[in-house]
Amino acid sequence: TDLIALIDRHVRDIPDYPQPGVVFKDITPLLGDHAALTATVRGLADPFRDERIDYVVGLEARGFIFGTPVALELGAGFVPLRKAGKLPARTLSQSYDLEYGTATVEIHADAITPGSRVLIVDDVLATGGTGHAAVELVRRAGGNVVGLSVLMELGFLKGRERLPDVELRALIAL
Ligand code: IMP
Repeated sequence: TDLIALIDRHVRDIPDYPQPGVVFKDITPLLGDHAALTATVRGLADPFRDERIDYVVGLEARGFIFGTPVALELGAGFVPLRKAGKLPARTLSQSYDLEYGTATVEIHADAITPGSRVLIVDDVLATGGTGHAAVELVRRAGGNVVGLSVLMELGFLKGRERLPDVELRALIAL
Protein backbone atom coordinates (compact mmCIF):
# COMPACT_ATOMS: atom_id res chain seq x y z
CA THR A 1 0.00 0.00 0.00
CA ASP A 2 0.93 3.68 -0.10
CA LEU A 3 1.69 3.71 3.62
CA ILE A 4 4.10 0.80 3.36
CA ALA A 5 5.83 2.50 0.41
CA LEU A 6 6.07 5.70 2.45
CA ILE A 7 7.68 3.87 5.35
CA ASP A 8 9.99 1.91 3.05
CA ARG A 9 11.26 5.10 1.40
CA HIS A 10 12.40 6.39 4.80
CA VAL A 11 14.56 3.41 5.77
CA ARG A 12 18.09 3.44 4.35
CA ASP A 13 20.81 0.84 3.98
CA ILE A 14 24.16 1.51 5.66
CA PRO A 15 26.77 -0.94 4.31
CA ASP A 16 29.43 -2.37 6.63
CA TYR A 17 27.79 -1.15 9.85
CA PRO A 18 28.35 -2.10 12.67
CA GLN A 19 30.90 -4.43 11.04
CA PRO A 20 32.15 -5.31 7.56
CA GLY A 21 29.69 -7.36 5.52
CA VAL A 22 26.58 -6.29 7.45
CA VAL A 23 24.00 -4.00 5.82
CA PHE A 24 22.36 -2.03 8.63
CA LYS A 25 18.78 -0.78 8.22
CA ASP A 26 18.81 2.82 9.47
CA ILE A 27 15.37 4.03 10.53
CA THR A 28 16.39 7.55 11.61
CA PRO A 29 15.09 9.19 8.36
CA LEU A 30 11.67 7.72 9.22
CA LEU A 31 11.78 9.26 12.70
CA GLY A 32 12.45 12.66 11.13
CA ASP A 33 9.43 12.56 8.82
CA HIS A 34 6.07 13.24 10.47
CA ALA A 35 3.96 11.38 7.91
CA ALA A 36 6.19 8.30 7.91
CA LEU A 37 6.43 8.31 11.72
CA THR A 38 2.65 8.55 12.10
CA ALA A 39 2.08 5.74 9.59
CA THR A 40 4.61 3.56 11.39
CA VAL A 41 3.10 4.02 14.86
CA ARG A 42 -0.40 3.32 13.56
CA GLY A 43 0.85 0.36 11.54
CA LEU A 44 2.51 -1.19 14.58
CA ALA A 45 -0.65 -0.74 16.67
CA ASP A 46 -3.33 -1.64 14.09
CA PRO A 47 -3.20 -5.48 14.28
CA PHE A 48 -3.65 -5.33 18.06
CA ARG A 49 -6.37 -2.68 18.52
CA ASP A 50 -9.00 -5.21 19.56
CA GLU A 51 -6.65 -7.20 21.80
CA ARG A 52 -7.17 -5.27 25.07
CA ILE A 53 -3.43 -4.73 25.53
CA ASP A 54 -2.46 -3.74 29.10
CA TYR A 55 1.25 -3.11 28.51
CA VAL A 56 3.51 -2.44 25.58
CA VAL A 57 7.03 -3.69 26.28
CA GLY A 58 9.62 -1.77 24.24
CA LEU A 59 13.07 -3.20 23.57
CA GLU A 60 16.05 -0.90 24.13
CA ALA A 61 16.67 1.38 22.38
CA ARG A 62 14.57 1.88 19.25
CA GLY A 63 11.74 -0.14 20.73
CA PHE A 64 11.39 2.69 23.27
CA ILE A 65 10.84 5.24 20.52
CA PHE A 66 8.06 3.26 18.82
CA GLY A 67 6.70 1.44 21.84
CA THR A 68 5.64 4.50 23.81
CA PRO A 69 3.37 6.05 21.13
CA VAL A 70 2.02 2.56 20.33
CA ALA A 71 1.11 2.21 24.02
CA LEU A 72 -0.76 5.53 23.85
CA GLU A 73 -2.57 4.40 20.67
CA LEU A 74 -3.67 1.20 22.39
CA GLY A 75 -4.60 2.72 25.75
CA ALA A 76 -1.82 0.72 27.41
CA GLY A 77 1.09 1.42 29.74
CA PHE A 78 4.71 1.26 28.64
CA VAL A 79 7.38 -1.01 30.13
CA PRO A 80 11.06 -0.79 29.13
CA LEU A 81 13.09 -3.94 28.58
CA ARG A 82 16.72 -2.93 28.93
CA LYS A 83 20.26 -4.15 28.51
CA ALA A 84 21.82 -5.53 31.69
CA GLY A 85 22.61 -3.13 34.51
CA LYS A 86 20.40 -0.19 33.50
CA LEU A 87 17.23 -0.72 35.55
CA PRO A 88 17.40 0.51 39.16
CA ALA A 89 14.97 -1.77 41.02
CA ARG A 90 14.80 -5.57 41.29
CA THR A 91 15.01 -7.21 37.86
CA LEU A 92 14.52 -10.49 36.08
CA SER A 93 17.22 -11.15 33.51
CA GLN A 94 17.58 -13.37 30.49
CA SER A 95 20.75 -14.13 28.53
CA TYR A 96 20.87 -15.19 24.91
CA ASP A 97 23.51 -16.14 22.36
CA LEU A 98 24.85 -13.70 19.81
CA GLU A 99 27.01 -14.65 16.84
CA TYR A 100 30.00 -13.96 19.08
CA GLY A 101 29.31 -14.10 22.82
CA THR A 102 26.12 -13.47 24.74
CA ALA A 103 23.81 -10.59 25.63
CA THR A 104 21.59 -10.08 28.65
CA VAL A 105 18.32 -8.17 28.86
CA GLU A 106 16.33 -7.23 31.96
CA ILE A 107 12.88 -6.13 33.05
CA HIS A 108 11.71 -4.84 36.42
CA ALA A 109 10.33 -7.81 38.33
CA ASP A 110 7.21 -5.86 39.37
CA ALA A 111 6.56 -4.08 36.06
CA ILE A 112 3.80 -6.38 34.79
CA THR A 113 0.73 -7.34 36.77
CA PRO A 114 0.50 -11.15 36.47
CA GLY A 115 -2.09 -12.23 33.91
CA SER A 116 -2.01 -8.98 31.97
CA ARG A 117 -1.93 -8.80 28.19
CA VAL A 118 1.36 -7.68 26.66
CA LEU A 119 2.44 -6.51 23.21
CA ILE A 120 6.21 -6.42 22.55
CA VAL A 121 7.46 -3.72 20.13
CA ASP A 122 10.80 -3.28 18.38
CA ASP A 123 12.13 -1.75 15.16
CA VAL A 124 13.89 -4.66 13.45
CA LEU A 125 13.60 -8.43 13.88
CA ALA A 126 16.87 -9.96 12.69
CA THR A 127 17.90 -13.37 14.10
CA GLY A 128 15.06 -13.28 16.61
CA GLY A 129 17.39 -13.69 19.59
CA THR A 130 16.33 -10.43 21.21
CA GLY A 131 12.64 -11.05 20.53
CA HIS A 132 12.83 -14.56 21.94
CA ALA A 133 14.57 -13.33 25.11
CA ALA A 134 11.90 -10.62 25.48
CA VAL A 135 9.08 -13.16 25.19
CA GLU A 136 10.72 -15.35 27.85
CA LEU A 137 11.21 -12.41 30.22
CA VAL A 138 7.64 -11.16 29.87
CA ARG A 139 6.33 -14.65 30.56
CA ARG A 140 8.60 -15.03 33.60
CA ALA A 141 7.28 -11.68 34.85
CA GLY A 142 3.75 -13.14 34.64
CA GLY A 143 2.61 -11.48 31.42
CA ASN A 144 0.58 -13.07 28.65
CA VAL A 145 2.39 -12.31 25.36
CA VAL A 146 -0.31 -11.35 22.85
CA GLY A 147 2.12 -10.48 20.06
CA LEU A 148 5.34 -8.99 18.77
CA SER A 149 5.01 -6.00 16.45
CA VAL A 150 8.03 -4.82 14.44
CA LEU A 151 8.63 -2.31 11.72
CA MET A 152 10.89 -4.58 9.68
CA GLU A 153 11.55 -8.31 9.55
CA LEU A 154 14.80 -9.47 7.94
CA GLY A 155 13.30 -12.73 6.68
CA PHE A 156 16.56 -14.19 5.40
CA LEU A 157 17.78 -14.42 9.03
CA LYS A 158 14.80 -16.65 9.89
CA GLY A 159 14.03 -14.97 13.22
CA ARG A 160 10.39 -15.98 12.85
CA GLU A 161 11.40 -19.62 13.25
CA ARG A 162 12.60 -18.86 16.78
CA LEU A 163 9.18 -17.48 17.70
CA PRO A 164 6.82 -20.26 16.59
CA ASP A 165 4.20 -19.62 19.27
CA VAL A 166 4.12 -15.80 18.97
CA GLU A 167 1.79 -13.65 16.84
CA LEU A 168 4.53 -11.83 14.92
CA ARG A 169 3.52 -8.87 12.75
CA ALA A 170 5.92 -6.89 10.56
CA LEU A 171 5.06 -3.80 8.51
CA ILE A 172 7.81 -4.62 6.02
CA ALA A 173 9.39 -8.04 5.43
CA LEU A 174 12.63 -8.30 3.46
P1 IMP B 1 18.13 -9.99 16.65
O1 IMP B 1 18.24 -10.28 18.10
O2 IMP B 1 19.22 -10.62 15.83
O3 IMP B 1 16.75 -10.29 16.09
O4 IMP B 1 18.41 -8.44 16.46
C1 IMP B 1 17.41 -7.57 16.74
C2 IMP B 1 17.91 -6.40 17.54
O5 IMP B 1 19.05 -5.82 16.93
C3 IMP B 1 16.82 -5.36 17.58
O6 IMP B 1 16.74 -4.81 18.88
C4 IMP B 1 17.23 -4.34 16.55
O7 IMP B 1 17.03 -3.03 17.01
C5 IMP B 1 18.72 -4.61 16.31
N1 IMP B 1 19.03 -4.72 14.87
C6 IMP B 1 19.53 -5.79 14.21
N2 IMP B 1 19.73 -5.52 12.92
C7 IMP B 1 19.35 -4.25 12.74
C8 IMP B 1 19.31 -3.36 11.59
O8 IMP B 1 19.68 -3.69 10.44
N3 IMP B 1 18.83 -2.12 11.83
C9 IMP B 1 18.40 -1.71 13.04
N4 IMP B 1 18.44 -2.49 14.12
C10 IMP B 1 18.90 -3.75 13.97
